[in-house]
Amino acid sequence: MAKLTFLGAAGCVTGSKYLVEAARRRLLLDCGLFQGSKQLRLLNWERLPVDPSTIDWVVLTHAHIDHTGYLPRLVRDGFRGPIFATSATRDLCTILLPDSARLQEEDAENAARKGYSKHSPPLPLYTEAEVAPVLARISEFPRGAWQVISPEFSIRAHDAGHILGASSIELKIAENGKSATVLFSGDVGRYDQPILKDPAVPPAADFVLCETTYGDRDHPTGSPHDALAEIIQQVSRRGGAIIIPAFAVGRTQALLYVLRELEDWQRIPSLPVYVDSPMAISATELYQRHHEDHDLDFTRLEPNGNPLETRRMHLLRTAEESKSINKVSTPCVIISASGMATGGRVLHHLARRLPDSRNAVVLAGFQAEGTRGRALLEGAKTLHIHGEEVLVKAEVIELNQFSAHADRDELLRWLKAMPAPPRQTFLVHGEPAAREAFRSAVQTQLGWQSVTLPKLGDSIDLAPA
Ligand SMILES: [Zn+2]
Repeated sequence: MAKLTFLGAAGCVTGSKYLVEAARRRLLLDCGLFQGSKQLRLLNWERLPVDPSTIDWVVLTHAHIDHTGYLPRLVRDGFRGPIFATSATRDLCTILLPDSARLQEEDAENAARKGYSKHSPPLPLYTEAEVAPVLARISEFPRGAWQVISPEFSIRAHDAGHILGASSIELKIAENGKSATVLFSGDVGRYDQPILKDPAVPPAADFVLCETTYGDRDHPTGSPHDALAEIIQQVSRRGGAIIIPAFAVGRTQALLYVLRELEDWQRIPSLPVYVDSPMAISATELYQRHHEDHDLDFTRLEPNGNPLETRRMHLLRTAEESKSINKVSTPCVIISASGMATGGRVLHHLARRLPDSRNAVVLAGFQAEGTRGRALLEGAKTLHIHGEEVLVKAEVIELNQFSAHADRDELLRWLKAMPAPPRQTFLVHGEPAAREAFRSAVQTQLGWQSVTLPKLGDSIDLAPA
């Protein structure tokens, strides 16, 4: 009988890895890195309970590092099979995985300098050189059509609307003349959002694994356009700059798209917009290339030029270009990574702009505990940046309308659209409180009783119907 084992994202939001075994063949669905607290990050150093050389295939839902960032380790430790991904996911992996490797190498260097590591000298989890063999193994497959992997396994990808290329994966397992279907939600995106299509109606399945990142919360209902327009008007009127720490993939493009629309509708002045992140610039190019993921609004805007380009946009690639905007003292928008202000070029802009009360910092994504972004949200009066205490006088504004994750209502909407209730639902990819809350929502609002909260390492039998 086929078996499913939870090797990650079971009680937390990172490290997505689900092992499916049937007829002595092994398929790994997602291969994510654990991120966040030290306790979680240490899990990346533990051996997988299964020898990577015995895994036959990997299938990816999308390119985010918490779903792909363990791949270099898997390949280094012996995995030799193909990695199936949509075309856009493959392209995004070529940007995100080398960046992840650089961060691992930086961490190891920092550990060496400060003398905290159990390795001597401290080792990176993987290096940039170890990414190329991973990229060479990625095999593209289209959405919508069945891809037969082996006599036991077939997969079909459905639009998830989360980031470019993101899919939910339907897995059909055939064994001894019987079959069972498992649906992996991947990360579910939002409905009626700019750029990306809505999450597709999910297919029928015997078993469902559903993410629960925002399983206990609903996003604000106001439009992202209204919220952003108001900020731009107010801050530009008082002569300030708007600094937006933003994730390079997804959030940056959504911000540019909405800014451009607001300009076209003449709801905001056309300010200089500085995109200060080489990775965001590369990702934006991919967003323009992969039309298969775009909704109608995007294609409608295209004849008038690039919908991801504001009128006075500047793309800053080099460090010199980045520094040059220090001299800009008139109203402008600066979009720069990292999204939670944990590192990256945005720190220089924050150090320079935070002490001026005319300026505003806009936090447009999830801010994890312990990050500078969270400290700002919680009203910190100073911020520690590059060894100095920086006074926080600028206005701090939370803008959750730009989230790339379905909220509780949207997750319920996605599940409810299934043609029939699954035999069993597994809630994954959520903090404990979010999973608990979402389980009671599924039970009371959908009437589905068999809802399980798997723990790391749990295995279950996927009995055919
Ligand atoms: Zn994601």
